[in-house]
Amino acid sequence: MTADLSHDELHAQAKRREFTLVPGSPVNLLEFDLETLTALCERLGEKRFRAVQLFRWIHQRGCANFDDMSDLAKSLREKLKGVACVKAMEVVSQHVSADGTIKWLFDVGGGNVIESVFIPEDDRGTLCISTQAGCAMGCRFCSTGHQGFSRNLTTGEIIGQLWFAEHFLRQRLQRDERVISNAVMMGMGEPLQNYAALVPALKMMLDDHAYGLSRRRVTVSTSGLVKKMDLLGLECPVALAVSLHAPNNALRDYLVPLNIKHPLEELMPACVSYLAYAPRDFITFEYCMLDDVNDSDALARELVQLVKYYGHSVSWCKFNLIPFNPFPASGLHRSKPERVLAFARILSEAGITTTVRKTRGDDIDAACGQLAGDVVDRTRVTVRIARQRRVELPSHSAVDAKI
Ligand code: SAH
Ligand code: SF4
Repeated sequence: MTADLSHDELHAQAKRREFTLVPGSPVNLLEFDLETLTALCERLGEKRFRAVQLFRWIHQRGCANFDDMSDLAKSLREKLKGVACVKAMEVVSQHVSADGTIKWLFDVGGGNVIESVFIPEDDRGTLCISTQAGCAMGCRFCSTGHQGFSRNLTTGEIIGQLWFAEHFLRQRLQRDERVISNAVMMGMGEPLQNYAALVPALKMMLDDHAYGLSRRRVTVSTSGLVKKMDLLGLECPVALAVSLHAPNNALRDYLVPLNIKHPLEELMPACVSYLAYAPRDFITFEYCMLDDVNDSDALARELVQLVKYYGHSVSWCKFNLIPFNPFPASGLHRSKPERVLAFARILSEAGITTTVRKTRGDDIDAACGQLAGDVVDRTRVTVRIARQRRVELPSHSAVDAKI
């Protein structure tokens, strides 16, 4: 965890909770969970409880300057200044939409940019967080997948998005209390492929000395890394969303290549097993609606059968239907609104709670057009996802929600 180490080395060290203190090459304390911070305090000859104070200054109060940490002894502050810093990634750009949605692009070095999106709603504030620069999973409908994989983000880069956004927003809105109540790992990357860095970051999100988010309000979204889903349930059981997109292996192999390695016979039981740990009594399936690819009535009925086959009832999961956000290289198209509704109705009438995300204005997208290359496509996807309003479809009843 020093400035001179490569990201792979940082990652390996974080996994081992190791750090090296080198004067002139400060460790970034955003990388440190409470346990590692405690080890740092001990290494500096300080009492263990100082770590809690330090942790609270950094994460609860957003303080990056040791001199401002007034209840820490001056001697400790001096020691810290010699070996450590608190430093978030650099913001490349910020786009604010008329409805308050904000998207930030962060520079993570090596020509890589990642994004976070803040979505304000009446009763909550959600931050959509990236976990990797790019993604290796290669899903056909995803521009991050088309972009390929650059590298895993470190724990500090994952939590740094929340650190920056929370304290930026508190200042902007002039609020002392928490602004972000929900965190979803639905930005760039496959979170569970970056498990070692992800879990300490999740634990920081949950920690009462840091962000104190409820487990129900922290969601990991995965394309289906089954072994890591099991591990997550044991180590850090937050809410789980699984990107399903197809009711059978042939179609899912095509849309989500990871399915070839972990087919539905593995994925579905792993989803059911996760229920034993899930903070609520269901998991969420995401289903991206692709015109003439996965949106027929027959496939909706197959989906109902799939859910019934693996669960005792249909209430163990919820479906989130996401209208596809097109990008040229995909060759795919968004399902027609009436098709999405017909599909949703079949699930809903079978008793499955189903939501359809409703797209609103496009004012941030216009700003995104000023950005370059792959970033344009992917940010459009995320910003649209972020700005979609959910329409809840009641079970066992006809619906007439309009998209
Ligand atoms: N890698 C994880 C989380 C990041 S993707 C996952 O796949 O679950 C977050 C969500 O965005 C996923 O449900 C994914 O299927 C969806 N998504 C990706 N590209 C999309 C697109 N072009 N249009 C609509 N949803 C998309
Ligand atoms: Fe990766 Fe998720 Fe995109 Fe698939 S949908 S390529 S897993 S980010």
